[in-house]
Amino acid sequence: HAPVHFRTLLEASRRHGPKVFLVYEDERVTYEEHYLRAATLARRLAGEYGVAKGDRVAIAMRNYPEWVIAFSAVLAAGAVAVPLNAWWSAKELEFGLSDSGARVLIADGERAAALAGAGCPLIVARGEVPAGARSFAEVLGAVEPDVTPPPVDLSPQDPATILYTSGTTGRPKGALGSHRNLGQSPLTVAYGTTRSAVRAGRDPARKAGRRRVTLLTVPLFHATGCFAVMTTTMFGGDGLVLMRRWDAGRALELIERERVTNLSGVPTNIWQLLSHPGLAEADVSSLTSLGYGGAPAPPRLLERLTELLPSRSPTNGYGMTETTALAIGNGGPDYLARPDSVGLPVPVVDVRVTGQGGEELPVGEVGELRLRGPNVILGYWNRPEETAEAFADGWLRTGDLARVDEEGFVYIVDRAKDMVIRGGENVYCAEVEAALFEHPAVEDAAVIGIPHEELGEEVGAIVRLASPVGDEELRTFLRERIAPFKVPVRFWIRESELPRNPGGKILKTVLRREVLGA
Ligand code: ATP
Ligand code: MG
Repeated sequence: HAPVHFRTLLEASRRHGPKVFLVYEDERVTYEEHYLRAATLARRLAGEYGVAKGDRVAIAMRNYPEWVIAFSAVLAAGAVAVPLNAWWSAKELEFGLSDSGARVLIADGERAAALAGAGCPLIVARGEVPAGARSFAEVLGAVEPDVTPPPVDLSPQDPATILYTSGTTGRPKGALGSHRNLGQSPLTVAYGTTRSAVRAGRDPARKAGRRRVTLLTVPLFHATGCFAVMTTTMFGGDGLVLMRRWDAGRALELIERERVTNLSGVPTNIWQLLSHPGLAEADVSSLTSLGYGGAPAPPRLLERLTELLPSRSPTNGYGMTETTALAIGNGGPDYLARPDSVGLPVPVVDVRVTGQGGEELPVGEVGELRLRGPNVILGYWNRPEETAEAFADGWLRTGDLARVDEEGFVYIVDRAKDMVIRGGENVYCAEVEAALFEHPAVEDAAVIGIPHEELGEEVGAIVRLASPVGDEELRTFLRERIAPFKVPVRFWIRESELPRNPGGKILKTVLRREVLGA
């Protein structure tokens, strides 16, 4: 049988030989180099560290080339890669290590310093190597030109990754993905872009032969970076430009220097890029497409994008860690016609909108979005209850409220956990936020529920303004756009940026605690 799994992808990527895969600062790693290093490291992990099929190996690093090499090596060895969030504190990282039961940790200097006493063998890429640990270069040693990964018998359903969810709504959960999920990922993306091209009346093969260079603006340890962008790049033999940390000015320099054709990130990245004073002078002529997703993209973003960077094809992708990133996508004329929709499910994904009892709702009604497809993960690591709850009957419960129109376009209405119920009326925070975003002075906004004795909840908003605006003016503005009961009764003006996780999502739990003390 011919399994679709990551190892196949890695082996196939070798045929891109001398082409540049990874770009970081002045460093370049070709496909051949990447393959040889990954295969060698896989051999060392198996031989010197006793890493066997199914063992977990954690990776805790910024977006360095070693991240990608380590990831490929772990999977090539038949082990399970556990990318840890580089933004996490030492305590959170320790949670990730113990929750996953990691056998080896591959970390950068900063993470290594915080985790030196964590109790599992440590391999350090970049920076100080603590006593007892070994450096990445030392472990790798001399790379042999004909090395192959150690033999291991893998089936497509074997676990390949544990990626922690972003922790937007609570404690991050370890999403256990299979080799098939991962191997399928670039195909999911290809299905999405092919369908988009066909719908737009373009030849889907038009871009074949032209080298794509993608600038990754989000961390590799989240679904978008790892599943959607990294594997797709590898699949196509394209270039991937890495940034240690996101910075809009630096991104503009990199686009110019590396002739970046495609930028992938979260809506906040795009917004900051468009607001950057350097945009006007930067040479961004190489850029042909901008893809974003992972968090709500206000229609105003698309407007600004069309105005400032015309004729770049923008796409909005909806996905979750649990769906190996992309599940639904909008692009081309479809997106321009329906800027508030995340688009159509990619052809391998089925969607369903359900009511309280799990029953399917009629077209147009708002309910919980459920998904099914080869990209849906196996379950949550170590969480039988949460797994049973979210993965019932072969359909994944997304926890997102959505509606689907007659043509099959999906509209994400809100997160079920964010929705405010005011006196029995549902208020979707995302809708109020989108209305606030239409005000030219509003830079950022988060809508939350405020506990209220009689109504249960009232609507409140935390806003960041570019220029002073009074509460009453904001209310008048909103009343022209949304029903009166949805208009916030209370505004908190915030001077500093709203707290976001690296996935670009506003941390409402943090905000609620700040403004309500709850
Ligand atoms: P946690 O599950 O730990 O609370 P999280 O849900 O933010 O965190 P991810 O798996 O990274 O973790 O994000 C998936 C969620 O992101 C989706 O359920 C949805 O709420 C949101 N999302 C993703 N893409 C989009 C999009 N294009 N538009 C709107 N929301 C999106
Ligand atoms: Mg989630």
